[in-house]
Amino acid sequence: SFPQRQKPDWLKVRLPQGPGWARIDRYHREQGLHTVCRSAACPNQGECWSRGTATFMILGNLCTRTCTFCNVQEGRPVVLDHTEPARVAQAIHELGLRHAVVTSVTRDDLPDGGAAQFARLVHEVRARAPGCRLELLIPDLAGNLHALDVILAAAPDVLGHNVETVPRLYPQTRQGADYQRSLDLLAAAHRRAPQVLTKSGLMLGVGESFEEIFAVLADLRRVGCSLLTLGQYLAPTRHHHPVIRYLRPDEFQQLRQDALALGFVHVEAGPLVRSSYHAEQQFEEAADA
Ligand code: SF4
Ligand code: SF4
Repeated sequence: SFPQRQKPDWLKVRLPQGPGWARIDRYHREQGLHTVCRSAACPNQGECWSRGTATFMILGNLCTRTCTFCNVQEGRPVVLDHTEPARVAQAIHELGLRHAVVTSVTRDDLPDGGAAQFARLVHEVRARAPGCRLELLIPDLAGNLHALDVILAAAPDVLGHNVETVPRLYPQTRQGADYQRSLDLLAAAHRRAPQVLTKSGLMLGVGESFEEIFAVLADLRRVGCSLLTLGQYLAPTRHHHPVIRYLRPDEFQQLRQDALALGFVHVEAGPLVRSSYHAEQQFEEAADA
């Protein structure tokens, strides 16, 4: 086992407070809506909320998988809540969001992996919050491309799917996931709906080498991925996969340059970057490109 390394200074941030934060906190308590911003105690809440960006989690808060880096609880998932898409869309409207990211747990128990719920959500957001751009960060749908088509037909602005780490580390971090299947999903999305921007991301510091990172970036470009996020992995608790290394800010900057050279249209890379960090900016730059 690895000793717990001390967090470097660049990762020490104050958790947000203030009106924006209080507002989302209320949505959590009163509406039972889940945001990743809050559940993951994301350090960027203050910034994202003031920019009009937030990340909602649908399909419940219990996951059928047990990734060793993730703080979402494993468990038998809840029955699908058919009021959820409308409630999330209404919150997006009331909060006046300009760019909403919606993600979900993995629902291996559902034949479509939850695709129909994602599609309903897109329709509800278009109806209730027409000015808001919508980015979906989807699970791998167990590789079900019919389910993917259901989501693409709803026409989100961005479709994200995170490969999270390098293929060598999948067995010890992402049981039930398959690197090639995730790449195939991104490839299929780009092929079937080239007007929808595809996006992926990795968390670094899990034990990968730079060579392995570059190989993944090249794979992502090959399948038409145009947006990329690279952030530092932080172990949620002592029982999760340990942090093997804290990458320095300048190493993230170098990786960003390398990724741009490979042809990604927008890259967010930094210790505190999460897949939805600066999501609105990523979209705007890519749309202008
Ligand atoms: Fe929420 Fe994502 Fe921003 Fe974190 S980076 S506060 S999860 S929108
Ligand atoms: Fe967490 Fe997603 Fe893995 Fe579920 S599939 S444990 S939500 S990372």
